[in-house]
Amino acid sequence: LNSNLVSRLHESTATAADSSDPPSEKYEYQAEVSRLMDLIVHSLYSNKEVFLRELISNASDALDKLRYLSVTQPELLRDAVDLDIRIHTDKDNGIITLTDSGIGMTRQELVDCLGTIAQSGTAKFFKALKDSKEAGADSNLIGQFGVGFYSAFLVADKVVVSTKSPKSEKQFVWEGEANANSYTIREETDQDKLIPRGTRITLYLKRDDKGFAHPERIESLIKNYSQFVSFPIYTWKEKG
Ligand code: ADP
Ligand code: MG
Repeated sequence: LNSNLVSRLHESTATAADSSDPPSEKYEYQAEVSRLMDLIVHSLYSNKEVFLRELISNASDALDKLRYLSVTQPELLRDAVDLDIRIHTDKDNGIITLTDSGIGMTRQELVDCLGTIAQSGTAKFFKALKDSKEAGADSNLIGQFGVGFYSAFLVADKVVVSTKSPKSEKQFVWEGEANANSYTIREETDQDKLIPRGTRITLYLKRDDKGFAHPERIESLIKNYSQFVSFPIYTWKEKG
């Protein structure tokens, strides 16, 4: 199964290089993002499991945004996809996939949201963490702030975000790796991966964190951290 995964990765690299496909573009993170990622990885090392709460909370926010906007723009719901969150685990390959049918992101939103710290929760966390470090205080800030999207890198070597906004004709793929200072964005060209609307996040887990790719583990984290999410969350096993 591992070799399957490896060959699939090679295949997709080869496809991206094919001249018929739009090229994948490389972007540098804003300097603060790289520092934030370092801080998150070092200060939350023993609370890695918060990644799931953060990704579910983003999915829930995206669904809320869609529902809110659809009041004045009912055409946003024309795809008639249920508003929900779906989590697949593939324990053999150590992969978690989290899909929401929310508002999604355009290409520009991917750059703005996942390449810079413009967002409030993350920015506040960053500041509080810095302040507490400067004051020499013990930083137990995990419960107080959403540490956000980048907490995915607590458990994943590679994170792939494939997303379709109703504002865009196209679906785009953001891809980043742990300890890197750049990420890439390309158009989704794999027909099997197209979604009508929303965001699919794929986590390729670090070797020591593959244990998170078990439905039981995911379900217990949901119970502990995400029980008040107001959209259905479905989990199931990937067939081996
Ligand atoms: P915060 O949730 O505090 O804004 P995050 O780091 O968790 O910070 O997320 C940054 C931004 O990325 C969000 O504000 C949102 O605009 C965008 N984003 C993240 N996940 C999703 C998603 N599943 N669907 C749509 N947008 C998302
Ligand atoms: Mg968030």
